[in-house]
Amino acid sequence: MTVAPDMQHQVSELVTDLLDAHDPKTSEPTEFLGAQFDAGLAWVHFPVGLGGLGAPRGLQPLVDEPLAAAGAPSPFLRNPIGVGMAAPTVVKHGSAEQKQRLLRPLFTGQELWCQLFSEPGAGSDLAALATSAVRDGEGWVLNGQKVWTSAAHLSRWALLVARSDPDAPKHRGLSYFVLDMQVPGVEVRPLIQATGDAEFNEVYLTDVRVADADRLGDVGQGWAVAMTTLMNERVAIGGQPSPRGAGMIGEAIRVWRELGSDDPVLRDELVRHWVAAEALRLTNIRAGQSAAEGTPGPEGSIGKIVSAELNQRISAFTVQLMGMAGTLYPGGYVMGRPERLGSRNDQQRMLRSIANSIEGGTTEIMRNILAERVLKLPPEPRTDRDKPWSQLPRS
Ligand SMILES: Cc1cc2nc3c(=O)[nH]c(=O)nc-3n(C[C@H](O)[C@H](O)[C@H](O)COP(=O)(O)OP(=O)(O)OC[C@H]3O[C@@H](n4cnc5c(N)ncnc54)[C@H](O)[C@@H]3O)c2cc1C
Repeated sequence: MTVAPDMQHQVSELVTDLLDAHDPKTSEPTEFLGAQFDAGLAWVHFPVGLGGLGAPRGLQPLVDEPLAAAGAPSPFLRNPIGVGMAAPTVVKHGSAEQKQRLLRPLFTGQELWCQLFSEPGAGSDLAALATSAVRDGEGWVLNGQKVWTSAAHLSRWALLVARSDPDAPKHRGLSYFVLDMQVPGVEVRPLIQATGDAEFNEVYLTDVRVADADRLGDVGQGWAVAMTTLMNERVAIGGQPSPRGAGMIGEAIRVWRELGSDDPVLRDELVRHWVAAEALRLTNIRAGQSAAEGTPGPEGSIGKIVSAELNQRISAFTVQLMGMAGTLYPGGYVMGRPERLGSRNDQQRMLRSIANSIEGGTTEIMRNILAERVLKLPPEPRTDRDKPWSQLPRS
């Protein structure tokens, strides 16, 4: 898409004004991000008044790069599920009131978000989920169990899919809600991961009341809304634009330099990882520019697969570089509930990276999506698409 130079100029001018009025080094992060939202620089492609300018999405790097260079807080790192998944879902499917109410505190990180999708019997086959939403007067009553809910213990709001019509086929009987995690009947229990942290949880919903005004999309159309969330999730996990040499590969280079190693075999391996990381970074930039507007497509699965594999390989290589020190766990095995998502050290990063090929859809499922929806290969046989969900066998 060609972008008028005056629009590029306008965005850059707004960034300069923002930085002049709010020095990121001295401003409170919440105040800075609030000013960024009010200037329309949160997501430039969102509507005016909702954190955007109605500009092409491809202009966002004109905002993000100078702000990162100036040391501005990252809204994504503060609220990854909110910024990466909830915001694009709310702006696409939400009512005017929901957008006004939810987007600003989401962007500033004052209200964190989680995703109540997976259940003990519904992960890869998410449409099989069993949490029920039963109509009751002006609202709905929710009952069920969700699992693997990252940051549920920190979140004010959740994205939730529930079954509103058990007699419809599984994809057609779902409705989608935003759930206030503080209402009665929501119980969050920690689950400890291999890293020793409980960054995800089980969430039990017992007679939880949710207003009909908190529904996103039409009754029975929850699958379409969930697809918006899931497509954005894959890009949020695997397709984030990042500066050259940042992330896992930056860590590997830092450790390499600190150790002062001159082993030519390890150097060769480090360079191969660097080239692969750079190829992914450039691919993500290109994908971000071609998906100039709207929801990312199924090709978002490419970045998700490749980034998971790379994170695992590079973080294992980094720990290998450390030699015996790599077998130690700095700070101890905490078994705590972290106050933010993210890793504390290289050893933890390596253990956490194992989850990258599971969370947000497994690598096997990403390959199925690419095969069927991008390469148009024959689909897997499915016998359960048109039968009522209530008649399907379940574990
Ligand atoms: C760290 C972490 C954080 C998470 N955070 C959240 C969260 O915040 N919210 C949330 O809702 N969920 C979350 N999840 C859950 C995640 O989305 C699921 O774990 C994932 O979708 C897989 O589902 P499952 O665990 O039920 O595995 P299953 O679906 O039971 O899969 C088991 C195995 O079978 C394979 N498989 C299944 N179906 C097929 C098929 N058709 N073809 C080929 N292979 C197949 C899978 O690839 C996998 O290897 C998180 C998971 C992790 C690890």
